[in-house]
Amino acid sequence: MNYERVIVFGAHPDDEIRMAPAMARMAAEGVQVTAVIFTDGSEGYPLPEMKETIVETRARETEACRKVLGIHRYVNLGAPDMGLENTKSMLQKVIRVVREVRPQAIFTHGEKDRHRDHLATHTLTLEAWWHAGEPVAAELGPSWRTPHLYYYKNTALEGPVVEYDVTAYAHKLPEALATQVSQHTLFRRTREDFLAEAERIKANPPRKVHRFILHAWTVLKDFPATS
Ligand SMILES: [Zn+2]
Repeated sequence: MNYERVIVFGAHPDDEIRMAPAMARMAAEGVQVTAVIFTDGSEGYPLPEMKETIVETRARETEACRKVLGIHRYVNLGAPDMGLENTKSMLQKVIRVVREVRPQAIFTHGEKDRHRDHLATHTLTLEAWWHAGEPVAAELGPSWRTPHLYYYKNTALEGPVVEYDVTAYAHKLPEALATQVSQHTLFRRTREDFLAEAERIKANPPRKVHRFILHAWTVLKDFPATS
């Protein structure tokens, strides 16, 4: 994971938190981590009275999460929650962000999912990854071929696996989840629950390893030999 720049794609604000310990470790080791979220999270309200303010609330929670993880920045592409579609304009937005960040690795959702936005995130990122590297659509920025693409969640694909030890950052998962107060009804936990869990982990860290599945188109020659 000794990349200079990476992008983590998520369908909704909080999907990327699955990678919280890995993002925190990369950031601490000098990797520029950009999290790109497709939708505004506008359907994530458990009470009708939260409807009008939920997007603003989640944007604030995202910034709190960014600080906990110590990552470079978050980008929100502004698609409607439960309405992310693989349209030309959305594809152009993703190509533009890939060409702007110029990552050496992309992390995204896998293909095995039941949420339409997660499936659209999967197909859009795969397609944009490829298109961004082609000498086409030059108004979206100079072409950029990202060498490595990983799935960090919801895949049944059996690509090569990269294991990343995040034991020293395991507490960042509950700390990041603690910032997502508007989602705590859904998570069935409180902020206090998450912060107490973070303290328990810090006192006695269990070994934690992220397993990332490499997509088959990834350029393997950039990896060191394993034996
Ligand atoms: Zn989601």
